[in-house]
Amino acid sequence: MIQRAETEHSKELGCAKHLLLAIGSANVIGVSLPASLSSHAGPGAGQGRSVFFSDGVSRIRLTLDENSPVLIENSGETAVLTFDGPGGLISVEGFVEKTGCHCPKQAYITINEGCIFSCRYCNVPNLDKHIKTPDEIASLISDAVRRENVECISLTSGVVGTMQEEDERLFAILERVRPFGLPIGVSVYPTPGLSQRLFELGVSEVKFNLETATGKLFAEMCPSLDRDVLCNALKEAVGIFGKNRVYTNIILGLGESKAEMKQCITHCLENGVIPIIRPLTPSAQLSHFSRPLAEDILSISEFLQSELLRFGLDPSASKTMCAKCMGCDLTPMTDLHLGEVTP
Ligand code: SF4
Repeated sequence: MIQRAETEHSKELGCAKHLLLAIGSANVIGVSLPASLSSHAGPGAGQGRSVFFSDGVSRIRLTLDENSPVLIENSGETAVLTFDGPGGLISVEGFVEKTGCHCPKQAYITINEGCIFSCRYCNVPNLDKHIKTPDEIASLISDAVRRENVECISLTSGVVGTMQEEDERLFAILERVRPFGLPIGVSVYPTPGLSQRLFELGVSEVKFNLETATGKLFAEMCPSLDRDVLCNALKEAVGIFGKNRVYTNIILGLGESKAEMKQCITHCLENGVIPIIRPLTPSAQLSHFSRPLAEDILSISEFLQSELLRFGLDPSASKTMCAKCMGCDLTPMTDLHLGEVTP
């Protein structure tokens, strides 16, 4: 276990991020946040606006809440985050980041904002089922590129029609956005053979979310989905996209044991898939759940980091989506600084 700077003023966001993720919110005062400095992004979609705070190395996304114990004093160019944590006062100097679409430096776009499935932790089925056209998506990307330093295009989607309709819609969008010349990441519920087609259409990275640490929890949380489909698609994707290009989100705090989460992490990495361990944001049918404890967020991230080193995989090499953003997770390599991956 590495020592974290919890007992004194901390200058690095990475050292305090597990404590902040366990809170999940911030009260921003000072210079007010225009639309380009806030976002509806991330887990708990539909629950209100978020802010992205960075110290130049690490980044965190926090939901705006004027009752939050985390305070961000925004002066415009710079900002200071303070939090009276369990081990003493934490103070981090940094800045509030602008967003491209959804998160900083990315045009991360949701194609279908609704979903016919009803995973218990997810609020998306309750949102408007608007389906964006390829032209709408291209226009959002053009606006983001004009406004901000956008480095990639990331696409995700709920499922509104049949899986075949979803695939066809995605392929048309990829044809349309490819000329932007930016790395493209795709995170969807996969169909067999999807990765090959995505690769041919210029996609660099995929993220197919396993969501839960165990099959039993998956059956409880996502009763309409098939975990075997996801496992097979992930293995297939590694063969096509290669090292450090295939990701999966696993939610921490759904009721799994520590041993189950560790087993899941190791199993993913053995297959060349990099898991992103996402602390639960209680939402939808799980609104009564609690956020995971800071110490659990930290210890599982340390385990993930040690396993990443053992398997020679590195999420900091990612070009798109959540592993590049890092806003919602304690990210090995970048936040923990434990070591280097040997090439
Ligand atoms: S980590 Fe992923 S879900 Fe969270 S804000 Fe960034 S891109 Fe969105």
